[in-house]
Amino acid sequence: MNQVAPQHDPRRLIPRTDALLALPEVAAARRRLSADTVVERVRAIQERARRGELPPQEVAAAVIADLTRARASAQTPVLNATGVVVHTNLGRAPLSLAAVSAMVDAAGYVDVELDLESGVRGKRGARTRSALLAACPAAGDALAVNNGAAALVLATTALAAGREVVVSRGELIEIGAGFRLPDLIASTGARLREVGTTNRTHLSDYADAIGPDTGCLLKVHPSNFTVSGFTSAAPVSELAQVARDRGVPLVVDVGSGLLAPDRTLPDEPDAATMLNDGADLVTASGDKLLGGPQAGLVLGRADLVQRLSRHPLARAVRIDKLALAALEATVAGTHRA
Ligand SMILES: *Cc1c(COP(=O)(O)O)cnc(C)c1O
Repeated sequence: MNQVAPQHDPRRLIPRTDALLALPEVAAARRRLSADTVVERVRAIQERARRGELPPQEVAAAVIADLTRARASAQTPVLNATGVVVHTNLGRAPLSLAAVSAMVDAAGYVDVELDLESGVRGKRGARTRSALLAACPAAGDALAVNNGAAALVLATTALAAGREVVVSRGELIEIGAGFRLPDLIASTGARLREVGTTNRTHLSDYADAIGPDTGCLLKVHPSNFTVSGFTSAAPVSELAQVARDRGVPLVVDVGSGLLAPDRTLPDEPDAATMLNDGADLVTASGDKLLGGPQAGLVLGRADLVQRLSRHPLARAVRIDKLALAALEATVAGTHRA
């Protein structure tokens, strides 16, 4: 037998858990990571030493190195060198420092639904709404929801569930994995009434399709592709006239979240122009060109925005307090810039 006498067992040299937890670097890590995570990682390294995979005198350094690298979330910050500024696989828009700071403030208890002056319950998102209306005065009212898809689902559900959504065949698009416009609208209980062709849809195609069953007209910005050549699409201003004459609302999904025209992006539709052209509602994303957190925006006619916010689905697509805070900071920054 070649048994090591207990007093010579190298495992006796492995630092104890409480000694490791008392190291300043480990204490610092405990402020960043959860206490359970730190203990778990410390024990895993002690275990490696017990198995002889790590000399006992290297345990402390290994623990420090491990905890320095460890993150509370498995999401790892990366450098975006793809050349695609708003990259869906890399988290879309990076937040401004103001938006990050607003999120940190909102992380604890916060007056998200409380009026601090009167002590009575306040309206969730009131300040974000004000910021949106200041940045896009063409809108009568504004509502922020969970994401752009939710904004569109809420609009078509509230305006057209059990009825028809009239949309051009050229705009039945797929934006990215999991976002196919026709499937999304079908899931709301509205029926798609496709008009025109892939490359050409005329004003008369919409006008001919409008009937007693029409819930709304929908125009969607094909964000990630263009069709060129023999093409034609009805301009929003003309479509809005038809919608008004026939008493049906026109919803425009601009996708990008640009609130006002931007000289550097002449081809990108913006909410203000669409509303000034006569759209009743505009829906958009918060984390594309707007540069904010994941969110969906609905801007437009006050009565319609109210109708959407009172719909039961609005609660299921409600925006969270962190995104609300970051959105407010982002929109206020855009507006002042
Ligand atoms: C991106 C996009 C959406 C979906 O918005 P999400 O915020 O990703 O849910 C909807 N419509 C258009 C036109 C888009 O570009």
